[in-house]
Amino acid sequence: MAGAVCHNRYLNPTAQIIVLDAGGQYCHLIARKVRDLGVYAEVRASETAAVELAGAHGIIISGGPSSVYDSGSPTVDPAIFAVGAPVLGICYGQQLMAHILGGEVRKGVKGEYGLATLELEDTADPMFGGLGGKQQIWMNHRDAVGALPEGFRVTGRTDSCAVAAIAAPGRGLYGLQFHPEVVHTTRGQEFLANFVFRVCQCRKDWDPRHRVPAIEQEIRDTARNRSVFFFVSGGVDSSVAFALCARALGAGRVRGVYVDTGLMREGETDFVGRMANLTVEHAEDQFLGALAGVTDPEQKRHIIGEEFVRVQERIVESRHLMDEQWILGQGTIYPDTIESGGTAKAAVIKTHHNRVAGIQKLIAAGRIVEPLKSFYKDEVREVGRELGLPSELLDRHPFPGPGLAIRCLCSEFDAPVRATADGWVIPVNSVGVLGDARSYAPVLAIEALDHVRATELTNRLSGMNRVVAAVESKAPLAAMQIRACSLTPERIAKLRQADALVRRLSHEANYDRCVWQFPVILIPLGTAEAPESVVLRPVDSVDGMTAQSVPMDDALLRAMCGELLKLEGICGVFYDLTHKPPGTIEWE
Ligand code: GLN
Repeated sequence: MAGAVCHNRYLNPTAQIIVLDAGGQYCHLIARKVRDLGVYAEVRASETAAVELAGAHGIIISGGPSSVYDSGSPTVDPAIFAVGAPVLGICYGQQLMAHILGGEVRKGVKGEYGLATLELEDTADPMFGGLGGKQQIWMNHRDAVGALPEGFRVTGRTDSCAVAAIAAPGRGLYGLQFHPEVVHTTRGQEFLANFVFRVCQCRKDWDPRHRVPAIEQEIRDTARNRSVFFFVSGGVDSSVAFALCARALGAGRVRGVYVDTGLMREGETDFVGRMANLTVEHAEDQFLGALAGVTDPEQKRHIIGEEFVRVQERIVESRHLMDEQWILGQGTIYPDTIESGGTAKAAVIKTHHNRVAGIQKLIAAGRIVEPLKSFYKDEVREVGRELGLPSELLDRHPFPGPGLAIRCLCSEFDAPVRATADGWVIPVNSVGVLGDARSYAPVLAIEALDHVRATELTNRLSGMNRVVAAVESKAPLAAMQIRACSLTPERIAKLRQADALVRRLSHEANYDRCVWQFPVILIPLGTAEAPESVVLRPVDSVDGMTAQSVPMDDALLRAMCGELLKLEGICGVFYDLTHKPPGTIEWE
């Protein structure tokens, strides 16, 4: 009965590593990465009393949006540094550890977001063993440790951060200013493995392959005797979640509904319509009507989420179904929750459509099932493969629930492009994630397709979270302006056309297989004759939590520009050079 023992352990394991949540975007990801190493880890509130952590083999303090000197900023019980279990502080966690133990934290002159190079002094210490030299790491901070607490030494630095790693090995205390838990820190898993196995001496007690039976059990527990209405978008998450519900409850108890919001890409409704067990609900006028005149991204996201709830209510009513017999299924994944501010101390980066008030109410009433809510995109794909779903479906690029609405930027004002010493400021705001907090700031355009320069600029300039390259245009930038506009069916149609064109060209060049996602964004920038511009945003990612802007072959880029500029009303083509952080993958 070895399998049964494992299964029980999956449902009832004891955590060897406890991750204390200081509100970081990647807090839950730290626990996942430790579990990927085969060691069970759990997240607890940062203030959890040291006595409650007595059995842990190791403690990790997460990052967070606050500054240690902010009033009410998250803290930890100082006694955790003396319970005997080693402690690793990551980002805010390092800053907090230094602050509590008598060191000093300072606001950096510059921020450090995204790509950075770490110089690690190779030491004999088990935490850093085998990890010397220069390494690609991922940063997301403005504050930094200025003075060390007694007994600590600096073990790593970057160009802009003199204290990128610290250690007091005798006391089992370590700090990293960068994020070992994100994939863009190339050897991040080795840092975590060193901490977990060599410093904390954990043993393997966890096998992530047992998740499918556990998810199915959870679905049955949530649904009880009720059936499920599943909102399916044709994307990876909702398709896998839908398949899990059908397996757990039997296909007869799960009904898939695809809503055509009028905000979908070209051909999408046809693609989804071919999937089995689905009904298509047309609601184009409803969604576009509710969005008329709206310019603010958070407002767009809230309206779209609430309209989904309206659709569900309408279906339930029109079919004379009883509330007690049906619950709603959604393909929510963990990044949706955390970016929507879904933990006690995390900042709202952007509210996902499946986390609006109407949905929260249904969650509170126990009327929502979300089988994948604690998983990341790469895990969802793995689960899908275990279920035998086709790769044609699983390897689709992610596409946001609110659809083209959040790729069609709006403006309340007419405003000119402004020249500065570093480039042109385009006065249209996009969302970013700076030091784990939300930012909403204008875009800087430069001439060169230069990623290194883009990182230098977003680190140095405050009030800026995104840099684009001006690739080709019908008019000089100085002659372009942002014009006041909202979401209209015409603008959505223009974006749909541009998106279809980019998708076709990147598919023909096999470029779509080299990138994780490739948003195409419409911004109201141009001249009277050609009032819009297109931004290309190809990125590389694994879980969507961090992303790297990736280059494109020049011939393909020129071909795209040529075709896009032939579209009526398109003035310019831009290329987004921004990593995540500081920018988010989507612009809104
Ligand atoms: N908010 C802090 C900073 O900006 C910590 C950031 C983090 O933990 N990601 O430095």
